[in-house]
Amino acid sequence: MAMKVLILNTGSSSVKYSVYACHDGNAKELTKGLVERVGSKNANIKCECCLEHDATCAVHRIGTPGTLDIPDHRAAIAAICDILVSDRCVVVDDLSEIAGIGHRVVHGGEEFSQSTLIDEAVIAGIEKCCKLAPLHNPPALQGIRACQEVFPGVPQVAVFDTAFHASLPAHAYRYPIPAALYRDHGVRKYGFHGTSHRYVSEQAIKVLDMPAEDTRIITCHLGNGCSISAVKGGRCIETSMGLTPLGGVMMGTRTGDLDPYLPLFMIKELGMDVDEVDTLMNKKSGLFGVCGQNDMRDILKRADEGDRDCQLAVSMFCYSIARFIGSYAMVLGGADAIVFTAGIGENNAALRARILENAGFLGCHVDPARNAVNAENISTDDSTCKALVIPTNEELVITTHTARIVGEG
Ligand code: ADP
Repeated sequence: MAMKVLILNTGSSSVKYSVYACHDGNAKELTKGLVERVGSKNANIKCECCLEHDATCAVHRIGTPGTLDIPDHRAAIAAICDILVSDRCVVVDDLSEIAGIGHRVVHGGEEFSQSTLIDEAVIAGIEKCCKLAPLHNPPALQGIRACQEVFPGVPQVAVFDTAFHASLPAHAYRYPIPAALYRDHGVRKYGFHGTSHRYVSEQAIKVLDMPAEDTRIITCHLGNGCSISAVKGGRCIETSMGLTPLGGVMMGTRTGDLDPYLPLFMIKELGMDVDEVDTLMNKKSGLFGVCGQNDMRDILKRADEGDRDCQLAVSMFCYSIARFIGSYAMVLGGADAIVFTAGIGENNAALRARILENAGFLGCHVDPARNAVNAENISTDDSTCKALVIPTNEELVITTHTARIVGEG
């Protein structure tokens, strides 16, 4: 019998959900959707129902957009439940068919190095990590609490974005600052997008025709947020984001790594306050800071039309990623594959080619025809380091971990 699991990704003002049927280690998506503007009277629900029952009813909007009153996450989850049992979405006849619930949790700190069955102690642990992820962990907790009410007794599992990076050695995760900051306040590199790096590196190992324990893989998650990881024998040994998701490569609106004096300069010399610097670094920098846009498709269009700022932003972006790839090849002692994933990584051949322009010394040569069609292997046959395009699937990882842990429990 297939086990049905509900997967939730709860953000501050949105809840994304999907339902999977799991059987013998395989998972099939039955439905998915999104509640937007949670906490308002003009919320919105989109869902893709009846995926296999009726191809014509693929996307529904529930109610008139912008008229729905969804005061909090509990109401959002209750609304999702109504959809799941509604006639048009026949994925479950009764909510009791949901055997487990998997939650995406951004920060697991040092406490959680793997996906975990949720109990009160785990909730307290996630709460403790709120100071490290003040925007992300509190809504996930609200989602967990809401499910305790709406699905009493149904096992819930937390899948942490940081967990895949728990294998980083101390020389990679410690910062060169007084040790007390690490001991007393947990200041260290944690890394993010771990579920994505885990998924694409596992897929890459399947593509590489060599013993899994010998593989050296560099994974590039390039979306609005961007991060790069070095994965040796399936274990992550280095990653670009740090204590927070602000570090590492240049992103849509985030700086990535900088001269650490820069925020002090803005405060001391320019008279900015801490909140202004925070907003500037998280929301007004990166591609947006350089060219006034943060969506890569818009930037590329304007760059093509001759906009110099957009051209520079694209050059800085590709250069920033290439620098990390080069350094991670050294960390790994070479590379067998460089993997591209997420919005930019999966879809843009020109940027992949630019990022890998100088990768010939690693034995990685892009095949233009393969690259143009986003093929899985976009490198030439004689490349000793393959360039791969692997669509990420974080929901699938959350689903398989949830089904496994619920099955064991
Ligand atoms: P998120 O980090 O929010 O999940 P995504 O992984 O969806 O984001 O990535 C969003 C980014 O991917 C945006 O900058 C978008 O412009 C970019 N993107 C999507 N398709 C393309 C494309 N064909 N070419 C270039 N960039 C693309």
